[in-house]
Amino acid sequence: MSKTALITGITGQDGAYLSQFLLGKGYRVIGLVRSYLNPRLEGLAYLGIDKDVELEYCDLQDHSQIINLVARLKPDEIYNLAAQSSVSTSFAQPISTIHFNIISVLYLLEAIKLVNPKIRFYQASSSEMYGKPASLPILENSVLHPLSPYGISKASAHWIAINYREVHNLFTSCGILFNHESFLRSENFFVKKVLRQSIEIKKGLRDCLEVGNIDIRRDFGYAKEYVKAMWLMLQQDTPDDYIICSGKSISLREIIEHIFSRLGIPLEKLVVKKELFRPTEIMDNYGDNSRARTRLNWEYSLSFFDVLDILLDEELRN
Ligand code: NAP
Repeated sequence: MSKTALITGITGQDGAYLSQFLLGKGYRVIGLVRSYLNPRLEGLAYLGIDKDVELEYCDLQDHSQIINLVARLKPDEIYNLAAQSSVSTSFAQPISTIHFNIISVLYLLEAIKLVNPKIRFYQASSSEMYGKPASLPILENSVLHPLSPYGISKASAHWIAINYREVHNLFTSCGILFNHESFLRSENFFVKKVLRQSIEIKKGLRDCLEVGNIDIRRDFGYAKEYVKAMWLMLQQDTPDDYIICSGKSISLREIIEHIFSRLGIPLEKLVVKKELFRPTEIMDNYGDNSRARTRLNWEYSLSFFDVLDILLDEELRN
């Protein structure tokens, strides 16, 4: 009998790629959307799976609705991807980011505990929890030192998921994902913004690319490959937490230079603006994905320059 997966945040980048992957595995995929009126279904439509996933309206801040839905839909696995996911937005909206990103996790775990403690739960944790790393590479047990409201919310949610595993014996696994990109990434994220605006410069629709601090380095990967690790985590005999990353960092400057060079744009079109620098900034981070490789058999070998080429070609085609 096929398994049922319930996905929160199905309208986001990871929700769409994870749905595609799970449908390929024969799952019944049910996505929770926050409104029936105008759910953002472009990502699912782009992947050609908008007719294959079932949608349910759910306010993830309404505990009784979550309990009723979990009881009615009887999922085998819940993938919790819904979150206010932007670090920059979290500085503008610290209270709602922290409130939603934490309370929704608590409500989901309480619903599992009350309705069926056998349901397996995936929590979308983030490298932003480590913030200012004491040493590199970052490992699963590195000290958490978040530098943004987003990082704080993810660190709290992460510990809540671990607590329900340790105290209530639930199968909760946290995927600690580092930045991962795709065609479906929202426009307010760096790589997508650079790709879109560089193409506009190439077409003469924009004069220059305005950026903040581009000497920071990050560990970037490809979303389509990272969602496979989410599924693998819930197929293990025991729950655990796993860092999912490429293992290497690349500077934002190198990303821009690669895209400019592929499009034949001169570097004079790059404008660094101090007012776009973030209030707190992590200069470098990269992780160690050994646990995921050895225990999950998760494989990842793409360099981010390979990923940029895939994304640029896809962006140009669309
Ligand atoms: P995304 O594209 O920004 O999608 C976020 C999803 O959360 C959307 O479906 C959005 O729904 C939903 N959401 C946001 N606020 C909500 C609210 N108040 N109520 C209900 N739903 C809400 O994010 P993503 O890149 O797919 O990331 C998936 C998860 O992984 C997130 O939890 C993110 O924090 C985490 N993560 C991402 C990365 C990364 O590099 N992408 C790295 C580490 C961790 P709407 O469409 O209705 O807005």
